[in-house]
Amino acid sequence: MILGNPSDYGPEVVRQLEEAKAFILNQDRFLVVSHVNPDGDAIGSTLAVGHMLEQLGKSYIMMNEGAVPAKFSLLPGYADIRDYSAWGSQDKPEFQAVIAVDCADYERIGRVREWFPDAVPLLNIDHHPTNDAYGTANLIHPEAAATAQVLYDLTVTMALPWTKPFSTCIYTGLLTDTGGFRYSNTTPKVMQIASEMLRQGVNGNELADQLLEKLTFSHISILRKALSNLNFTSDKKIAWMSVSLDDIREAGADGGDMDGLVNYPRNVEGVEVGLLFKQSGNLLYKVSLRSAGLADVSAIAQRFGGGGHIRAAGCTVQGTLQEAVQQVLTEVERALG
Ligand code: 5GP
Ligand code: MN
Repeated sequence: MILGNPSDYGPEVVRQLEEAKAFILNQDRFLVVSHVNPDGDAIGSTLAVGHMLEQLGKSYIMMNEGAVPAKFSLLPGYADIRDYSAWGSQDKPEFQAVIAVDCADYERIGRVREWFPDAVPLLNIDHHPTNDAYGTANLIHPEAAATAQVLYDLTVTMALPWTKPFSTCIYTGLLTDTGGFRYSNTTPKVMQIASEMLRQGVNGNELADQLLEKLTFSHISILRKALSNLNFTSDKKIAWMSVSLDDIREAGADGGDMDGLVNYPRNVEGVEVGLLFKQSGNLLYKVSLRSAGLADVSAIAQRFGGGGHIRAAGCTVQGTLQEAVQQVLTEVERALG
């Protein structure tokens, strides 16, 4: 049985899949990028594109703005993703075209953009409803649970094989973006693709163990600090926590260690919106927003220049912690009515 038949979709998605296929077939040297603070879908999708290009005999380089969190080290190809911030004075790699995966907007690609020549052909593959189609070619499927799902469909369109390494990367994107197949984006189609990937030999248990269950010491340390700063509005409908640069340094936490922290305020009974304020500079806070369902947090994040999904979004806010909290709380309270 062929799963993920593109004819399951409307004509626009089919057109975009064909456009993406032509984009890849018509060029040779690619730079594959995802977003700053990459998550499982960003890394899984970067590596999945690498495996697809490998099958096609194309040359490519995979790059992220920072170091890829160590917890992804069990993904095949992990060590081949280069760290832009550690590139130093080495020559800039040669490439003709860019493939950006899981990046809701152009800025999310981060500093790697400094390397893009003007008017570089860019294929934008994503699943965020707020994606503004910044590519010269765009494959954006907001109904997909993960960018990995979109890439799976692309392999069907391109008749590429599902190798075990490819399948491991696709499974990872689905696993992490659905919170371990628990969020409302866990559709029958997600389960069908996951099932097909398992059939290719993916070790789902090992991935879940490493990416969802295992707690690093630095994660536990930053969680302890974050929970000590857990606050609620008086009606307990909004909960937030914060971590400062000092907290992050003392805990030795990297971006991966802070994934999932925001679930603690969000998961408290009765809470409609959970927030995490993560200091990212002097008077600068990266905010993660999670909704239990009533509020559209992507609309709130967009008001601060960010974006994401209805139930999970992010943005960056300027000011002291108190000012950042106040600004975001005002918008969340307005959204909750
Ligand atoms: P997180 O809070 O885990 O960093 O991100 C939650 C969701 O919001 C993800 O889907 C992510 O892509 C999106 N997101 C987070 N930060 C930003 C941002 O600054 N801009 C945009 N457009 N999306 C973001
Ligand atoms: Mn994603």
